[in-house]
Amino acid sequence: METTLTKGGAWLLEDTPDADVFTPEKLSDEHRLMAQTTDEFIANEVLPNLDRLEEKDWELARTLIRRAGDLGLLGTNVPEEYGGLDLDKVSSLIVAEHIARSASFAVTYGGQANLCILPIVLFGTEEQKRQYLPGLVAGELVGAYALSESGSGSDALAAKTRATKQADGSWVLSGEKMWITNGGFADVIIVFAKVDGEHFTAFIVEKRFPGVSAGKEEHKMGIHGSSTTPILLQDTTVPAGNVLGEIGKGHKVALNTLNFGRFKLGAMCIGGSRQAIGDAAKYAAQRKQFGEPIASFGAIKHKLGEMFARTYAIESLTYRTAGLIDAALAGGTHDGATVAHAFEEFAVEASIAKVAGTEVLDYVLDENVQIHGGNGFVRDYMAERYYRDARVNRIFEGTNEINRMLIPGMLVRRALKGELGLIPAAKRLQDDVLAPSVPSTAFGDEGMLEDERRAIAAFKKVALMVLGTAMQTYGQKLTDEQEVLSYTADILIDTFASESAAIRARHALQSGGAHADLHEAAARLFVNDAALRVEQSAKSALAAMTDGDTLRTLLAALRRVLKVTPVNTVALRRRLAEAAVARGGYILN
Ligand SMILES: Cc1cc2nc3c(=O)[nH]c(=O)nc-3n(C[C@H](O)[C@H](O)[C@H](O)COP(=O)(O)OP(=O)(O)OC[C@H]3O[C@@H](n4cnc5c(N)ncnc54)[C@H](O)[C@@H]3O)c2cc1C
Repeated sequence: METTLTKGGAWLLEDTPDADVFTPEKLSDEHRLMAQTTDEFIANEVLPNLDRLEEKDWELARTLIRRAGDLGLLGTNVPEEYGGLDLDKVSSLIVAEHIARSASFAVTYGGQANLCILPIVLFGTEEQKRQYLPGLVAGELVGAYALSESGSGSDALAAKTRATKQADGSWVLSGEKMWITNGGFADVIIVFAKVDGEHFTAFIVEKRFPGVSAGKEEHKMGIHGSSTTPILLQDTTVPAGNVLGEIGKGHKVALNTLNFGRFKLGAMCIGGSRQAIGDAAKYAAQRKQFGEPIASFGAIKHKLGEMFARTYAIESLTYRTAGLIDAALAGGTHDGATVAHAFEEFAVEASIAKVAGTEVLDYVLDENVQIHGGNGFVRDYMAERYYRDARVNRIFEGTNEINRMLIPGMLVRRALKGELGLIPAAKRLQDDVLAPSVPSTAFGDEGMLEDERRAIAAFKKVALMVLGTAMQTYGQKLTDEQEVLSYTADILIDTFASESAAIRARHALQSGGAHADLHEAAARLFVNDAALRVEQSAKSALAAMTDGDTLRTLLAALRRVLKVTPVNTVALRRRLAEAAVARGGYILN
């Protein structure tokens, strides 16, 4: 069969050969050097200064952005002619992952690298790139991205900021943007406004242009060391040459920027989770109660094991996505349009990385507080700060609710355009599963994660069954059925995460790496629990869509497809927890 695995969402319909999947174990020496450089920068220059950043010392934030520029961390996605390093997307992932050890600075960094530099790379004219990129990449200029307004966050295209063309070709912008990262000290801001109140358009606005000002710093729950302010535009004149992309096509700039931003946010969540597992494991090893280290208690092992397995899954799916984007770009030209197209192609995977990453991170940080007990609730320990700092991740870069709509929504749109072969596959499946002789996907004992392979094949069938039923039941009105879409998104997230984890673990087992047993334990644990979640989501979705005999028939088919015998997850979690405590954290290589 002709492979379409360079297509976003193709993993749902095709078996991915293990060898095609990028995993963290395949990092090159250059990648590892990039990780080390980022780690040392954060450890030596950012973490010792967290308190000053939290006191809003924006001169220091500027200095740190400049240092990030000196080290090449701002230019991973920027062509060399504009001062960048033009590296692969795996390199961007690595920088994001390692910078996340300081959440506040990671947000400052994201505002610069993902939200300001990237849209200029993707949509800028040659002149705009020459004018702005070298300064931004060097960290001499600080960037921001102003899309949200007080009345339009999720519904960003409903912005009220206006742009009016002047006789000399320049533009006058008026409006108020809200919650802008780096707002307090940015020099260059990507501003979205409606030309004549109608045509949504992106502009490059400099803070020094008359009429641009920042409002007061927001008093936030967390990330106190990053600046978040309104940006006011009072009859601001913007030169004719500063329209970014096409007039009326601002949504393309906004959405493509967010596609990549979401993927990178997923990567940041890996870094945050790894850090917290390290802290939790070390604390559990030294904290004694009832004469024993708390790490020896089963309830604590349960937490550490689960933190480990979930982190393994998001790490696996995020690296896989980076590999998919890099493969799609390999051999092609790297002009902005090509890169934007690749990001768009893998928008489903980027949304999965965002939702799964941010929710795993919050889970891990919550359990980290719990493992720290009372010390987790006071400011002397980092657990409290991590917990507050992470909460925003589920809100920005598209809330998780919006991303859950997008995940199945984008697949359905492709299906309706005849792409991906999703509709014929759902139809074939319906015929198959409604026949009583569907082969069982029960766990057996043979082979290398063969049971998990079969379980994941079953997840895909369940996803198609639910999505196919939803399309048939609601047709064009499916977008109104948000609960069903959310259940479907959850099944798709668990499917992609499970497959990514299992393939990675098979790689580890086949190559006989030193910690292959931990890979295997993490993947088996994750897939086992994913089966329970997939079943629950599928039942809820099917019961919302059908009833009576139809529902009974579909539930019988679901039982036949998803026949999964539980594994001993207690033993698997203990093994992972004991390894984390012995090794001082989530350490696989
Ligand atoms: C610290 C911080 C930094 C930020 N940085 C930036 C930045 O640099 N640039 C920028 O432009 N913005 C930024 N934002 C804004 C952020 O992107 C928005 O807050 C976010 O998009 C949500 O919009 P909102 O706050 O208006 O919430 P709303 O859109 O009002 O959403 C409220 C709730 O309703 C839900 N909801 C809304 N619409 C739907 C729907 N159609 N279906 C189902 N549920 C829905 C949401 O999921 C959410 O749970 C930042 C925000 C914060 C807190």
